[in-house]
Amino acid sequence: VEKSAQQPKEGPVRKPSQPAVFVPVDRMPEIQEARLRLPVLAEEQVIMEAVRENPCIVLCGETGSGKTTQMPQFLYEAGYASGKGIIGITEPRRVAAVSMSQRVAMEMNLPTQVVSYQIRYEGNVTTDTKIKFMTDGVLLKEIQKDFLLQHYSVIIIDEAHERSVYTDILIGLLSRIVPLRNKKGLPMKLIIMSATLRVEDFTDNKKLFPSPPPVIKVDARQFPVSIHFNKRTPMEDYVGEIFHKTCKIHRMLPPGGILVFLTGQAEVHDVCRRLRKAFPFRRSTTDTGKEEETFKDTRRFKKDKQKQAALPRIHLDNYSALPVDEGDEDQLAGVDDDECGYEGCELDLGEDEDEKADPSIPLYVLPLYSLLAPEQQAKVFQASPAGTRLCVVATNVAETSLTIPGIKYVVDCGRVKKRYYDRVTGVSSFKVSWTSQASANQRAGRAGRTEPGHCYRLFSSAVFGDFSEFSEAEITRRPVEDLVLQMKDLNIDKVVNFPFPTAPSGEALMAAEQLLVSLGALEEPPRTGRVKDIERAKLSCPVTPLGRAMASFPVAPRFAKMLALGRQQDCLPYVIAVVASMTVREIFEDLERPAASEDESSKLAQNKARLMQMRRLWAGQGPSLLLGDLMVLLGAVGACEYAGCTPQFCETNGLRYKAMVEIRRLRGQLTNAVNAVCSEGGVFVDSKMAPPTESQVICLRQILLAGLGDHLARRIREEEILDPKWKNGYKTPLLDDPVFIHPSSALFKKPPEPPSIAVLLPQYCHYGPPLETPAPWLCPSTGTIRSHCTSTFYRVAWPLPAVEKAYPEGLDRFKLFAKFLLEGEV
Ligand code: ADP
Ligand code: MG
Repeated sequence: VEKSAQQPKEGPVRKPSQPAVFVPVDRMPEIQEARLRLPVLAEEQVIMEAVRENPCIVLCGETGSGKTTQMPQFLYEAGYASGKGIIGITEPRRVAAVSMSQRVAMEMNLPTQVVSYQIRYEGNVTTDTKIKFMTDGVLLKEIQKDFLLQHYSVIIIDEAHERSVYTDILIGLLSRIVPLRNKKGLPMKLIIMSATLRVEDFTDNKKLFPSPPPVIKVDARQFPVSIHFNKRTPMEDYVGEIFHKTCKIHRMLPPGGILVFLTGQAEVHDVCRRLRKAFPFRRSTTDTGKEEETFKDTRRFKKDKQKQAALPRIHLDNYSALPVDEGDEDQLAGVDDDECGYEGCELDLGEDEDEKADPSIPLYVLPLYSLLAPEQQAKVFQASPAGTRLCVVATNVAETSLTIPGIKYVVDCGRVKKRYYDRVTGVSSFKVSWTSQASANQRAGRAGRTEPGHCYRLFSSAVFGDFSEFSEAEITRRPVEDLVLQMKDLNIDKVVNFPFPTAPSGEALMAAEQLLVSLGALEEPPRTGRVKDIERAKLSCPVTPLGRAMASFPVAPRFAKMLALGRQQDCLPYVIAVVASMTVREIFEDLERPAASEDESSKLAQNKARLMQMRRLWAGQGPSLLLGDLMVLLGAVGACEYAGCTPQFCETNGLRYKAMVEIRRLRGQLTNAVNAVCSEGGVFVDSKMAPPTESQVICLRQILLAGLGDHLARRIREEEILDPKWKNGYKTPLLDDPVFIHPSSALFKKPPEPPSIAVLLPQYCHYGPPLETPAPWLCPSTGTIRSHCTSTFYRVAWPLPAVEKAYPEGLDRFKLFAKFLLEGEV
């Protein structure tokens, strides 16, 4: 038996199967009783023995078997938190970190000062904390501060099967940290927990673990589930089909809960609404349908109000703002989900068919998705009202993160919403696509937890056969410049050699390295010498001091660069505000959004002209117009902040309340991050933010441009116009076809002539034929439909040497631009 610091009260001789130390936990009897029914409890000895004897283990168990709630308790009882180190557990989702910490604190009868959580913006960790739930990103940041993680005696990586980027990186890093700690006589354990999906990526990976860690499988009792495929696969209105199928199950099949899988929050609410209409059910006052439809998080909201006082204030007189009424928190309903991305890919559901039902057994319909307020989420765990049938309409959070009791029927749409990234346009978007076979089977398994069940799949067996076997790891689907910078900051220069559970492509790594060099975050590779050496050097550029400063900011590298340069001319508060708003998606209410009802439609039309005018006001006049849509962002943030960031203000001014709250948090957080880095220099972030002066606007433009140099574009020339429609188009370095200023941009046909040089933010830009009026459009390269976008263009002046330095390789392309830059108007 290994001697370890986690076992301070080292007993005399003991059997290996006995815990070294037993730290008693005083649980409520009913909790203890429920625990004893969990499959992991039966394996506690086996698991703890494996933990004692191995630096790293993989714990694999069906969802609901008790991994997340029980593993920290086993370790606590075995004394892993009674020495110097504490027990850390990472979750890919913020909600899971918060709600699981609360659940475990409750089960252990311990205060939240002891069982705590830390997520990006908040936490309740104290010096007494023994079990700390956190998001994977939080732990990654801690590794940057202390590579050995000396604060911890055990790290549990939960939901490893989700293959989130940070989880993957953490496993790679911990595969090195754990042996290092043990070598230094500071023992540490790593526990990788996963649903019963592919674990070979972790175990059969010699680069990651030279000697494979033992896998402990927890067998949960699983009853047989009959799978029913559809004869045909609905491609269009699958949401409608899901609704009909659910109605049928409820009307025709014996009692048992129904779990419906959809892809996003909007779909979930749509189906909930239709089911409630079809099977009306009189709710008690404490359990009204209205309340469930409302997914506000009052707890957070109150906190925001307290934080408000500490945030920078803005002079209202200097911003154009419409009058504000008293805030009505209920306006929050209808705010959409981060996870769902924009609503552009919404389906037109048409009118409800009149489902004539015999509502003899009421249907108790509950929504479930990751951003649902915890109180609402908790409802799925509570017993449904007597005499009703439970029907949970969920996104894939119900696939593995949360277990709902009493489910007998699963209805699976077979789809999932995922983020996709287009390397050419730089547009990242959410798309609904088929899920994997493993996920579909996981979903089906939800039906067989307490008795034999049924799974109704909204696709044919042939389509299922075409699904990929497993879901791809996220790391292979997104740009990696932020990860590469974080690793370089950890002095991992040869990122290609990093033990990734699944490695990103060499192409993605190269693109990341090049961007970071052009931003000045990495040292430039030598340009002379043997070709082989040059090529190798290109993939192992060390980090620069600027790069280190950039790595300390919790934003993408191009934004981090802006923050790092932001001190000039007191521009920092503006840079922070712009960066914060550029990192948050969909700030503006979509003015082209199809109305949900007639009522809404006329309201939208009335509002539109007024809101467009508001945005033009925010864009300002004269020099501030040079900042284009970024000035609109700045104006919106400034005005909203001054007004106290109320839902009412956002509603009146066409802003998304949730986005504005997110921006406010980010501003606070970025201000702290910048101050922490700059404290030696005595930099002070102005708490009052009047609109920028003329010279600040010019400075601001340069700072912002420093991060966006690769998005330069110039107006298309007469001789390049191949199609009359191309007039007023812009040429970018990467695309052959021109791009256009979107009509909703503050700079659309304004000033009289469109700018000759512009910087284009791909995520806000319009690809495809020019638009005269804002209308839904299809992005040809990503295939996504966006009903709203803003392009950000502004004139720039940049000295040639800077361009040359930033683009040693693509200079020819940029010479043209550079010429414009030198000769063009400032
Ligand atoms: P796993 O991590 O293996 O999927 P969990 O530890 O999350 O399993 O869950 C174990 C059990 O605890 C499940 O039966 C689940 O329903 C129950 N549970 C988890 N969280 C809560 C909660 N907040 N309220 C009530 N029961 C819960
Ligand atoms: Mg779990």
